[in-house]
Amino acid sequence: MNQFARSGGALVSQLKTLGVTNDSVLNAMSEVPRHFFIESVLAHKAYENTALPIGQGQTISQPYIVGKMTQLLVEHNVETNVLEIGTGSGYQAAILGKVFDKVFSVERIRNLQLNAKRKLQQLDIYNVQMKHGDGWQGWESKAPFDAIIVTAAPNEVPPALKQQLKDGGILILPVGERVQHLVKIVRNGDTFVETILEPAKFVPLVAGATI
Ligand code: SAH
Repeated sequence: MNQFARSGGALVSQLKTLGVTNDSVLNAMSEVPRHFFIESVLAHKAYENTALPIGQGQTISQPYIVGKMTQLLVEHNVETNVLEIGTGSGYQAAILGKVFDKVFSVERIRNLQLNAKRKLQQLDIYNVQMKHGDGWQGWESKAPFDAIIVTAAPNEVPPALKQQLKDGGILILPVGERVQHLVKIVRNGDTFVETILEPAKFVPLVAGATI
């Protein structure tokens, strides 16, 4: 067993103690090599339960929150048509691609988007479509979605994301600036039922032009 496989196993055990217990989520997290999404100088930290820098002031999310957000969708019986806002390294998108049939992901920084796209191709993950764009607007031409997750924090829920949810669909996102909470929103016709879940710490969801 190589060093990464061993630490990957330890990470999965740690995630279980933190409440990420769903088998399909844990299998995906065992299969997708997180070190592959991180620069080689930081790869030795890939299986620690922490966010890490990926350049351009952005981070790959903490494994716990990746597992938790994915599990929330599984618990809502989501199977396909998942939109992620904030592709970043592509790691969360890869996990979503293993768990759900069809995934879409939007990133505003072109270099990160291109890099993430290449990584998923190298891992033979072909059910994730990615685009360079502003996630505040969602991905109108692919809507409606069964689920949307946002991996950067807006200070208010972007209205387009609510509108692009299917009836019965689920939106999971961190909301806030210095103080953030993970929020779950379920669409019931024109009603949106919000539940505040737990404290969170994400980079900001930037409004405005893409770069
Ligand atoms: N899911 C990522 C985490 C990336 S961090 C991963 O697994 O690595 C959040 C990402 O959101 C950053 O890459 C940032 O550039 C992106 N982002 C911020 N504002 C955005 C916006 N308005 N639209 C799309 N992406 C945005």
